[in-house]
Amino acid sequence: MKSEHRIVVLGAGYTGLLCAIRLARRARRTGVRVTLVNPSPRFTERLRMHQIVGGQELADHRISDLIDGTGVVFVRGTATAIDTESRTVAVDAPDGPAELTYDSLVYAIGSSTDTSTVPGADENASTLNSPRAARDFAERLAELAVAGGTVNVCGGGLTGVEAATEIAESHPGLRVTLISRGEPGPLMNAKARAHLYAAFDRLGITLRVGSAISKVLPDGVELADGTLVPADACLWTTGVRVPALAADAGIAVDERGLILVDATLRSTSHPQIHAIGDAAAVRQAWGQVHGTCQSGLPTAAYTADALARRLRGKSVKPFRFGYFHQPVSLGRRDAVIQFTHADDTPRRWFLSGRAAVTYKETISGSPLKMYRLSKRVSVSASLSKGGRATRPERTTR
Ligand SMILES: Cc1cc2nc3c(=O)[nH]c(=O)nc-3n(C[C@H](O)[C@H](O)[C@H](O)COP(=O)(O)OP(=O)(O)OC[C@H]3O[C@@H](n4cnc5c(N)ncnc54)[C@H](O)[C@@H]3O)c2cc1C
Repeated sequence: MKSEHRIVVLGAGYTGLLCAIRLARRARRTGVRVTLVNPSPRFTERLRMHQIVGGQELADHRISDLIDGTGVVFVRGTATAIDTESRTVAVDAPDGPAELTYDSLVYAIGSSTDTSTVPGADENASTLNSPRAARDFAERLAELAVAGGTVNVCGGGLTGVEAATEIAESHPGLRVTLISRGEPGPLMNAKARAHLYAAFDRLGITLRVGSAISKVLPDGVELADGTLVPADACLWTTGVRVPALAADAGIAVDERGLILVDATLRSTSHPQIHAIGDAAAVRQAWGQVHGTCQSGLPTAAYTADALARRLRGKSVKPFRFGYFHQPVSLGRRDAVIQFTHADDTPRRWFLSGRAAVTYKETISGSPLKMYRLSKRVSVSASLSKGGRATRPERTTR
């Protein structure tokens, strides 16, 4: 009798969950066993972490419920080492260490905000790296709001913008400063950016643009020119890091630790390993894909389909992806959706106001809908394959 093909998926975030659920259905006739590993028994909706900071309770999603009926086996634990020779993963589980053997491995352990690049950030700033961290920060903000306190949000990327506007809207008693080296919303067109700046004004957010942060102190941040921006609390949203798990295992990674992949998202050094989401260094003809859910979900769906096809001895076409939009919430009552070219540069069109709020909510809720649907049918996870910007290449096996 033909033995089962063992597929271990590391990480049950946005991409790992989709890949495991879709794979279990796509490959059910080829005899696969899919095991999904995650430290928490709950799925974290990272797209909504700033809502926690604004004082909202998020829905509780148990991974066991999300995979119910798929046949995927869930192992609660943290992968601590990968042995590429014996094809095993060491897992630190609550009831002791475990070892999982794989024929194929899907690496989907995501990324987190990097607090190691600026002195003091680790000790003196909070992050949105986990629901616990976001909840602790939310509690601190609620106390400060009563006393009319001050908050620095460091980083003018989309996470910083979403957090600053959410905090300012939900705590009008707080004075919020958004500190950014570059202009917030750099990849928006002038009109969309004007809408963003009008929202900062309306919500009373002070902008400090153009200075790098050199130090985070317990009572504020110091800028490169020596200026102190005092605050009672600090949220760090800038910079991304990935765990060293892949690099430590001798898997080829780029300078940031992301797994280098071929055109079909397999590790360039270990083809039994597939990398998806924020942990993969995915290149397209137009350039490097940056970590977003928008790009991550297509890598997950693609990898599930590619693995299922290979198990049936079929050929696989290269992965193709192009960006479609940049959805940014500005509190609960406003948002900007910048429509983009494949390389994430802005088009002329954007949405704002109520229509954008509805659009953004639809996008944020879509992964959970996708998981439910993927148990029965193959849903498209891509809004765009990039058109001419991702020219098709040769089919590879
Ligand atoms: C506040 C915020 C707002 C965002 N907004 C947007 C947005 O509007 N649009 C957008 O496209 N993107 C957005 N992003 C980015 C998006 O959340 C990420 O790109 C996405 O989560 C990547 O999915 P992933 O599966 O690679 O990683 P994750 O969703 O982070 O999942 C990784 C999983 O792996 C687990 N894990 C980690 N280490 C191990 C280990 N050693 N062993 C086993 N499991 C492990 C983690 O616990 C986690 O469950 C936002 C991010 C943040 C923080």
